[in-house]
Amino acid sequence: MTRLDRLRGQMAATHIDLVALAPGAHLAWLFGLKPHADERPLLACVSATGVGFLMPALEADSLRQHTDLPFFPWSDAEGPNDAFKALLAALGADTARAIALDECMRADHAALVATHLPGARREFSETTVGALRMRKEPAEVDALFKNARLADAAMEAAFAAAAPGRTEAEVAAAARARFTEGGAKPLFTIVGAGPNGAFPHHQTGATALAQGDAAVMDIGASMDGTSSDITRMAVIGHPPEGYEAVHAIVDRAVEAALIAAKPGVAAHTVDDAARTVITEAGYGEYFVHRTGHGLGTEVHEPPYITASSKTVLDEGMVFSIEPGIYLPGRFGIRLEEIVVLRADGPKILSSLPRDVRVIP
Ligand code: ZN
Ligand code: ZN
Repeated sequence: MTRLDRLRGQMAATHIDLVALAPGAHLAWLFGLKPHADERPLLACVSATGVGFLMPALEADSLRQHTDLPFFPWSDAEGPNDAFKALLAALGADTARAIALDECMRADHAALVATHLPGARREFSETTVGALRMRKEPAEVDALFKNARLADAAMEAAFAAAAPGRTEAEVAAAARARFTEGGAKPLFTIVGAGPNGAFPHHQTGATALAQGDAAVMDIGASMDGTSSDITRMAVIGHPPEGYEAVHAIVDRAVEAALIAAKPGVAAHTVDDAARTVITEAGYGEYFVHRTGHGLGTEVHEPPYITASSKTVLDEGMVFSIEPGIYLPGRFGIRLEEIVVLRADGPKILSSLPRDVRVIP
């Protein structure tokens, strides 16, 4: 079954007459298309019977090389209104009563859709395209495993580059080079040395690694339409005071979350499990973010593993488990696994141990 067929099934199940997507992750997932996005409305519309693109004329020729789907072109002189009317009529969607809009659509483009379908109930595409994207297809899981193996190799490259006197930026560059060599596009390579590790999203910079520093390394890349994301810890020489005990707590939090993650449980159960370990150890106020996020076409996508998420976890979902403890002025520790949820529980994509890597 194609993704378009699956989308139509999901639209029928959720009573949505029209899905309108903008350039972005949903469109890349559904049709493998990444059109140029600017202020000109370019929308992919799907109804029960048809599919078509509201297409700025100047984009049409280049995008035609990648798809045979119908275009409804409009020129800058004409504006998009007549083309959009024709598109809705061709799709039998001019009387649509419920429409789903891409969360990433520009507000002025969403207003164009709303103007043409004033009576329709509007919602976002999380229950249609988003719901499908949460449950990965076997081929996507294979690609995620392959991507994760490359992330492991990039992490090894970062460990190998870490040494006293080396800067965060140099260590990050080593990880990026390994990603590129493996055929992936680096997305982020965060290296936070010493007290910088206490900033969960530290801006990697010119800080040099010094003896006794703990370093947070959080890296990811995109390949074959999927993403990778992994966080591990290194210490240069002798770890800072209290390091091992805190590392062990974060690792126990990961383990607790892995045990809690099962098909049929709400996502907050996984966050609760990790948070309880850290809170009971006395570090609750230093675990300042959610436990995890979904991962696939995008690095951050549903399901979000938060304290309040009622999303029910299901087989085929892929998400991170990444508790952390951030001690201002001292160090931060985050350990991140990406898992695919199976009937019998989560399977970790990475094969790197979560032990701190000691750089002699
Ligand atoms: Zn992550
Ligand atoms: Zn990460």
